[in-house]
Amino acid sequence: MQAGHPAERYGRVYVLRIGHRPERDKRITTHVGLVARAFGANGFILGDVCDSHVMESLRGVLERWGGVMHLECGVPSRRYVMEWRRQGGEVIHLTMYGLHVDDVIGEIRSSPKPKLVIVGAEKVPPFFYEAADYNVAIGNQPHSEVAALAIFLDRLYEGRELRIEFPNAKLRIIPSPRSKKVVSLDSEGIEG
Ligand code: SAM
Repeated sequence: MQAGHPAERYGRVYVLRIGHRPERDKRITTHVGLVARAFGANGFILGDVCDSHVMESLRGVLERWGGVMHLECGVPSRRYVMEWRRQGGEVIHLTMYGLHVDDVIGEIRSSPKPKLVIVGAEKVPPFFYEAADYNVAIGNQPHSEVAALAIFLDRLYEGRELRIEFPNAKLRIIPSPRSKKVVSLDSEGIEG
């Protein structure tokens, strides 16, 4: 596990994206994967289908901006969930119908079990509500899988994920009040 990563403190977190429709969800599913990486998840799984556009975009970001994230696609989502549970992990399904995040995040954070966070697309089959250890609402209004995942991870990691420095990055941003400052790094993370 990469040093300084929130998973060191909070345990392993994978994100399972279900219901992806390649003809219309490429951009939003890519954004789910980007949030998973940037906000500290250790894995991104695209369930039931493979979409090379999504997976190549994520690989490209990992290559340039660093980080180590397990990537997989086309795995049967239901079987993946059952196997995750069988191996002792817990399952958190993000849905507007669930319990308010503030009422359950303390309990979720205190469990050392690896966490599988499920985000849906249009309609989520009942199986996922029933198989989940927690159905968690980021407020009980409909919004977006990208927003829901970002806020869930931020609450889980108590804001620490926004300070992650990814190893093996080729590029790093130098925060600047007014201009774009990006430096290139060599394989040892030293400015080139
Ligand atoms: N009817 C869907 C539902 O069950 O939440 C809303 C579909 S929404 C376009 C796609 C995904 O965004 C959902 O499957 C869920 O993972 C996430 N989502 C949307 N609003 C949410 C909320 N308020 N809390 C948690 N997750 C939400």
